[in-house]
Parts: sequence; C-alpha cells; structure tokens
Amino acid sequence: MNLKIGVIKGDGIGPEIVTEAMKVLDKVGEVYGHTMDYDQLLMGGASIDVHGVPLTDDTIRRAKDCDAVLMGSIGGDAKTSPWYQLEPDKRPEAGLLKIRKALNLFANLRPAVLYEELKGACPLKEEITEGGFDMMIMRELTGGLYFGERKTVEENGVMTAYDSLTYNENEIRRIAKRAFDIAMKRRRKVTSVDKANVLDSSRLWRKVVEKVAGDYPEVTLEHMLVDNCAMQLVKDPKQFDVILTENMFGDILSDEASMVTGSIGMLASASLNETKFGLYEPSGGSAPDIAGKGIANPIATILSAAMMLRFSFDLDAEADAIEKAVAEVLREGWRTIDIMSEGKNQVGTEKMGDLIAGHIA
Ligand code: NAD
Repeated sequence: MNLKIGVIKGDGIGPEIVTEAMKVLDKVGEVYGHTMDYDQLLMGGASIDVHGVPLTDDTIRRAKDCDAVLMGSIGGDAKTSPWYQLEPDKRPEAGLLKIRKALNLFANLRPAVLYEELKGACPLKEEITEGGFDMMIMRELTGGLYFGERKTVEENGVMTAYDSLTYNENEIRRIAKRAFDIAMKRRRKVTSVDKANVLDSSRLWRKVVEKVAGDYPEVTLEHMLVDNCAMQLVKDPKQFDVILTENMFGDILSDEASMVTGSIGMLASASLNETKFGLYEPSGGSAPDIAGKGIANPIATILSAAMMLRFSFDLDAEADAIEKAVAEVLREGWRTIDIMSEGKNQVGTEKMGDLIAGHIA
C-alpha cells in the first residue's frame, strides 16, 4: 500500500520527535511492504519564519491532498520568542485552529493508557490501577461553547458576558457514529457523558446518541453525568472503554484522564473528519525548555503514528506492531528522562526511536 502522509514537524521538540516516528513508520513499511510517501509541510513558528504566517493556503491544499497528516508540536516560549510579538491571529497556535477548521476535524481522540511498567508515575492508589487501564476519550471539537456566539455588554451599568452552547442533531450524530465505530475496534463499550439533568443541549445529545446506538447492537451504551465521570476517572478508570462527549466536557476530562496516566510524553492524539482523513499528534506542546537537547520522549508521537495506521489506513496489524514494540521497550527497562525511575536505563530521543523501530517485526 502507498501511504501519502503530510508531515508537519513544527517547532521546539517537534522535529526531534517526528523524525523518530518517521523512523518507526519506515520500519513498518519495510516489514509489511508499504511505501511511505511523505510531504513535509510547514506550520506554526517554522512557517512564520519562512512565510510570515503560521499556515499558508498552499499548506492547507497539500495537507488535503494527503491521506493523513502526522504532526509534532507548534509554538515557542511566549516570553522570549519573537513569534509572540505578532498579532494573535499571526502567532504559531493560530495555524493549529485554522488547519482544524480547514480540514473539518470535528472529532478529537485521546487515548489514556496506563502501562503496567509505568504504574509508578500514576498518582492513583495501586489498588485502583492494578492491571492498568486503557480508555479512549472522543471529544467533539468544532461545536458547543467554544464556537457559540459570545458577547460582553454593559447592561444597566453592569458588565455582563454571554457564551452560548449550541449543538444540532447532525453534529451529534456524526461524532456519535465515529465513537461507536471506534468502540467496534476495541472492547465495545461507549460511555456518553453529558449534563442532561440541566442542559437542553445535553438532552438532545443523549437522544441522538441513543438513536445511533440502535445501529450498533454489539456495543454497550451507558450515559454518565459529567460531574460523576470526573469522579469515576480517578475512582475506577478501568470501567471505561470509549468516552464520548461534547467539546468543553471533553477538554476537561481528557486532561484529567491524561494526568492519571502519569506522563505527557506518552500521550498520543488524533483529530478526525467524516472521511478516513486524520491529523495525528502528541498531546503535549513544543516543550521549548528541552528543545534541541535530544532528551524529549518520542513515544507519544510514535503512538500517534500507530493511531494513524489504525484509523486512516485500517492497518490494524501494523498499528498493533508499533504498540507492542513500545510496550516491549518499556518492559526491557528503557526510559527517556521524563519517565525515568530507579534501576532503569536512561536513553535520549534518537535511541528510543531506534529501540522501538528495532522491535518492529
Ligand atoms: P508543553 O507540553 O510543551 O510542556 C510542558 C512540560 O512537559 C515541559 O516541562 C516539557 O518539557 C514537558 N514535555 C512536553 N512534551 C514532552 C516530551 N515529549 N518529552 C518530555 N517532556 C515533555 O506545554 P507548555 O510549556 O505549556 O507549552 C509550550 C508551547 O507549546 C507553547 O507555545 C504552547 O502554546 C505550545 N502547545 C502546542 C500544542 C500543540 O502543538 N498541539 C499543544 C500544547 C501546547
């Protein structure tokens, strides 16, 4: 198979971690007989330096021409980087919002996996994390409170601010379908999270999700109020397979879920549209504090590449091979500095990439 992949290395540690993910993808190509056709694209600060803007129309066009895009991270140190002297819509992160909109990426996927080997980094009690956990948070990304009408006005001498939370049934249906499709590739359970005891938008959410569930008789659906879900994530994270939720709840819950796994350097993510196309990137930022030192953890980006193979190319065996290679390397005791613990072997970014690529068979 020929895989046309847009590659945005980005800023800070981006180029270092993406290079390692490409190394692992190349090895997968070699072992499984695929060709990787990369188109290197500029975005964020790297694009500002060359084009004066964080994302050009040409980059969007080329990204749309690819089957999927693998991205590092965007942005620099806001206190010292000249990029932050620019108007807000010309700064690196503006490129991120623009590309998500241009590619219609409405579904954000963030796995939260606790590896047995990294249990020590988890802030939860051992009896809760025994056996690890593995969940996938699917967050609606282009609707709800963050995209609704907003205004700040003075009413009778009192400053008043409004933000509106709107969802229509089509927006809910398309993300619900995505969540059920993904549950079918996993343990076949969807927990839909809302605030249906208070919000109209949540009551519609629940109704539409239930209707979609009718097309997936093999998947178990449960509803959970968002406040309860925030508690359950730290009380009993093992109960979750796919968590489906709207934009703001997902923003908060996915950060909570990722914290209980322990390290930002391990967290992959994907943003999908209605086709097979997706943008795959680590959840962390560009880490300017460690950029160029060769110590960043490339595993989140490597696991994002595995998600890309699974969700954009339906190459499940190849994705499994990457995930297994990561688990084996951890089991053998290799660690980057962010996940280092006593008695383990510390390695840099490049060596970690070599080790994982070496385990692809
Ligand atoms: P950050 O995630 O870059 O860094 C937070 C901490 O985590 C730092 O100590 C960093 O060294 C560490 N860290 C992050 N990734 C790591 C990795 N792979 N290996 C080891 N350690 C890692 O967050 P921040 O410092 O708040 O933001 C830095 C820049 O990144 C800002 O410009 C911000 O806007 C940008 N950002 C970009 C994205 C994105 O591209 N999607 C997401 C978040 C932040």
